[in-house]
Amino acid sequence: MKSLWNDSEASRYRGDLGLRVYTSRLLGREKALVLHGGGNTSVKIKEKNILGEEETILYVKGSGWDLEAIEEKGFSPVRMARLLKLAQLKTLSDPQMVNELRAHMLRADAPTPSVEAILHAILPYRYVDHTHADAVVTIANTPGGADRIREIYGDSVVVIPYVMPGFDLARLCAEEFPKQAGKNTTGMVLMNHGIFAFGETARESYERMIALVTRAEEYLKQRKAWDIPASAVPATTGPSRREVAELRRGISEAAGFPVILAVHDDAQSLAFANRPDIGAISQQGPATPDHAIRTKRVPMIGRDVTAYAEAYRQYFDEHAPKAREPKTMLDNAPRVILDSALGVCTAGRSAQDAAMVFDIYAHTLEIVQQAELLGGWRALPARDIFDVEYWDLEQAKLRSGGRPPVFTGEVALVTGAASGIGKACVESLLARGAAVAGLDINPAIETLFKRADYLGLKCDVTDEAQLGDALERTARAFGGVDMLILNAGVFPPGCRIESLTTPEWDRVLRLNLDANLTLMREAHALLKLAPNGGRVVVIGSKNVPAPGPGAAAYSASKAALTQLMRVAALEWGADGIRLNALHPDAVFDTGIWTDEVLKARAAHYGLTVEQYKKKNVLKVEVTSRDVAELAAEMCGPLFAKTTGAQVPVDGGNERVI
Ligand code: ZN
Repeated sequence: MKSLWNDSEASRYRGDLGLRVYTSRLLGREKALVLHGGGNTSVKIKEKNILGEEETILYVKGSGWDLEAIEEKGFSPVRMARLLKLAQLKTLSDPQMVNELRAHMLRADAPTPSVEAILHAILPYRYVDHTHADAVVTIANTPGGADRIREIYGDSVVVIPYVMPGFDLARLCAEEFPKQAGKNTTGMVLMNHGIFAFGETARESYERMIALVTRAEEYLKQRKAWDIPASAVPATTGPSRREVAELRRGISEAAGFPVILAVHDDAQSLAFANRPDIGAISQQGPATPDHAIRTKRVPMIGRDVTAYAEAYRQYFDEHAPKAREPKTMLDNAPRVILDSALGVCTAGRSAQDAAMVFDIYAHTLEIVQQAELLGGWRALPARDIFDVEYWDLEQAKLRSGGRPPVFTGEVALVTGAASGIGKACVESLLARGAAVAGLDINPAIETLFKRADYLGLKCDVTDEAQLGDALERTARAFGGVDMLILNAGVFPPGCRIESLTTPEWDRVLRLNLDANLTLMREAHALLKLAPNGGRVVVIGSKNVPAPGPGAAAYSASKAALTQLMRVAALEWGADGIRLNALHPDAVFDTGIWTDEVLKARAAHYGLTVEQYKKKNVLKVEVTSRDVAELAAEMCGPLFAKTTGAQVPVDGGNERVI
């Protein structure tokens, strides 16, 4: 592992706290050191308070901040004098400790200090860096791990046996550190947890961390426990999207709400899931308490969610100090699923959540395999893991999020999503918490949004193979399809029937009608498995109830599509799938309506552009967003008991009313 310190980069950061920000970010850049909010850092600074008194303040990472993106305001300023006195107490409960930390900050609006704040305070160095370095926890989680750590580091580190993070750990370190520390001490290893490094400058502390972790990495390399031998994975065509959706449905039922399921069938994930010893090595527990909080104690092997939920329930009853009702999905549903055909699947309340679990588990599976090469993977006893998993402080954090958006954990697919109404539908669905797959023939679709809950797929919806592939990729990314917005379509130039050629008629019907039949047919199995019931919204047209001359193919295609929706509403009601259509008119903020076309059309009616846009009963302009919001609402609880309906969104049209 290399130091990423760079003098010119460092010169952009001012003062002790500025450099604390800089080297914290350097730690955060290295995923083998910290992942997703893991790790914490601090600096002790003498400063004058508002009364002119000098006091020493511990600036320690605040909870909710990632080291990689931390800023000065992400550090909570806590009075050292108080922290050192607290460290002398015999006991201090978690809520008391959090209260003390918060009550002795210098800034009332600072984030809650890290639960490891007291531990940072008792270490007699200005800068303190703490990570859950992969190489160190790999070695610590083997039989004789403590001996190996001493062999590697000699007297340069203090070694602390495992104690759950919090006050007891800080107190043990306060006792042990002075006993073990000497002139060569540059760090401290917490068994089955992680490593500290410290120094008088930001650079010294950071580079000691890098040096200490490098020694652990070198040790693994010398013992041939670094490179995981590639193993042949049995050739498989992979399970179908339907099997993925069935698995997600089972997990959602166990959790009590819809979850996103992400399939990772890369070579490394598949090789791990197919190891002959997978049952033994994957069932011991995570590498560090930091991972336990977010990945659960053990992954599910195979797809029997009921058996897993029962086993987990037993584990819970065995270890819970008193009868407690499970309150979050941490309790009953698996978060990591190892399957010989699916590889590593991860489940989460949102796509971001599922991605975070995968990031952590991708490190875990390397750590476990390296530890096996070194002499055997041996994680903490289940009892210790349980205490962390059901830690009051972490449970409180999980519950403090408030009411999640309405489509949290659900998956939507929108066609014709690169612009206009389709793009607005993607935005409305994302805003309601859904993970969304956007399909469009325009390749710009792939980069329309850069976020974990969006998947942009270039797709010609008139091509059955491409549509099937898009459904497959959506199911692998998010676990299924719960909502379908049928929006892709074409509005051809005006043409009277006597001039309408068969190829032109075919072209319009293929896209506006046939493609939707294919997509509905292929998506039916997924919609049927939607945890909250499947929903389909057809973007129709005012031309269905009120056709216009010169638009035969368009009007006929949209009318037929509406009729298709009505038949499906009859056929699929028993599957819990509801379908509705909305009929927009005069939506001008789309690609086809350039300023020139608008001006020409307005002139044709002897109106200004403004008058032309509001040429309806209510004299309002109808935007893509208006249509999209209605489409999203049609998928939500307001329309829970409505199927087969057609709703105009046109500002009122005399011919429709
Ligand atoms: Zn830690």
